[in-house]
Amino acid sequence: MDMECTSARGAETGALEADDRFSLAVSRVRSGYLPAGQSGAVSAGAGRGELCVLCDRVIGADEVVYEVIGMKCGRSRKCSFHRPCYDAWMMTSPHVL
Ligand SMILES: [Zn+2]
Repeated sequence: MDMECTSARGAETGALEADDRFSLAVSRVRSGYLPAGQSGAVSAGAGRGELCVLCDRVIGADEVVYEVIGMKCGRSRKCSFHRPCYDAWMMTSPHVL
């Protein structure tokens, strides 16, 4: 009766749920906004206020940014992802190719 019914979904972290992030990745790859899979070198580092090409949110200094070099994402020559966004994007390859 008094079961706690809280879930992470209610937390106001501003982050997307994994499923939402994955669907967004698939639709962005399908629309050509993001390339499919990885085709360049990746570097990881601390965020510097870049916009994530997947979720369009700022990647703060307290977060890890994954940068894929050598491909185009939208109008950018450099693709910056939050780490979970990068993971979601990587998982799209088998679904959109
Ligand atoms: Zn992101």
